[in-house]
Amino acid sequence: MNNFSFYNPTKILFGEGQIANIGKEIPEDARVMLAYGGGSIKSNGVYQQIIDAIGNRIVCEFSGIEANPEFETLCRAADEVNEHKVDFILAAGGGSVVDGVKFIAAAANFAGDRWEILTKGGKGIESAIAFGSVLTLPATGSEMNSGSVVTRAEYKAKLPFGSPLVFPQFSVLDPTTTYTLPIRQVINGVIDPFTHVMEQYLTYPVGAHLQDRLAEAILQTLIDIGPEALAQPENYEIRANIMWCATMALNGLIGVGVPQDWSTHMIGHELTALYGLDHAQTLAVVLPANLRVRKADKLAKLSQFAERVWGITEGSDDEKAEAAIAKTEEFFRNLGAGTRIEDYDLEPSVINTIIKQLESHGMVKLGENKDVTPEVSRKILEAALR
Ligand code: NAP
Ligand code: FE
Repeated sequence: MNNFSFYNPTKILFGEGQIANIGKEIPEDARVMLAYGGGSIKSNGVYQQIIDAIGNRIVCEFSGIEANPEFETLCRAADEVNEHKVDFILAAGGGSVVDGVKFIAAAANFAGDRWEILTKGGKGIESAIAFGSVLTLPATGSEMNSGSVVTRAEYKAKLPFGSPLVFPQFSVLDPTTTYTLPIRQVINGVIDPFTHVMEQYLTYPVGAHLQDRLAEAILQTLIDIGPEALAQPENYEIRANIMWCATMALNGLIGVGVPQDWSTHMIGHELTALYGLDHAQTLAVVLPANLRVRKADKLAKLSQFAERVWGITEGSDDEKAEAAIAKTEEFFRNLGAGTRIEDYDLEPSVINTIIKQLESHGMVKLGENKDVTPEVSRKILEAALR
């Protein structure tokens, strides 16, 4: 196992009715901004529950944080934080709202050009406004981590940043808030955590037995109950388990002491920025192709993944790896996600454009061995074409 330090200060309030308890987590005299997206929290009752809990502390609301939150929008929100002397932000929504609030929290006091928060990946952030979240879409893990991804449409760029200063102070995970999710977002909410686990698990073995078993448990749980989450939207037990899987997939725990890949995510971000695919749709396209192209480097773990997660015990390592990748792609397709570029009506010529964008964003040495060069990314995209 590699050396590591582990720090995660986010308090989780899990279960039905927990929104009522957020008042205890936010100072009585706080000046709160309530930040949310396009209005799903108003139609599913989450907004009212928040007002009931802390309405008297909310000094302003900022709505309209888009899916794949947009730099310009978030900068406007950061200005409002300053105007209203906000000292606590409550994010209510999916990963985009939580990611967006992380950027707002860091940008409000940022002395330099706010775009540099993203081009420098979070280096240079010296303070951030305190914030918490009420999560309504389990998928990203943003509710219990210190990462965020922000889009700047004018540059067709979608860039990540991270800082220990942008951990949420608390996050409410109430599975009943997810009952109103559209099917497409439920599918996304299985594929994104599945891929988060794969980015941290499917690298080369370093003898991290517990991390491997934890990762495999999350993958198996998602495989077991993902289809049920689609079929039974109001099954509390299923939604609760999906929600906790998504948080555990990217709260740092399974990623300590192991090499991490993240090339599927970085290639996927370009697909979203250029062509508007949902984040998880890009992952369903890139992950199977990525594993196929880099199968030789990942063979030991692919074989372990085949045996332990899919129960494939027959054949050579190579055959087991192939079968496990096919099973993974089939799992995504059976959920209802397209796994090929052509499924999203895109032409082969998009590959050149994606590669140019990866190069312009410095995404030229991706993966756990930093050997996913633009040439390798091209092979991955070609393998994902049809
Ligand atoms: P999202 O973009 O936050 O939300 C997608 C849609 O779902 C929105 O239209 C939203 O509507 C709706 N929605 C949310 N909760 C709902 C509910 N309970 N009922 C009905 N509709 C609901 O989706 P996401 O997948 O959670 O977040 C994706 C973003 O997170 C991407 O930008 C991705 O790159 C990023 N990400 C971050 C991390 C990280 O570690 N920080 C990891 C992976 C991905 P409203 O706008 O009306 O609420
Ligand atoms: Fe993700």
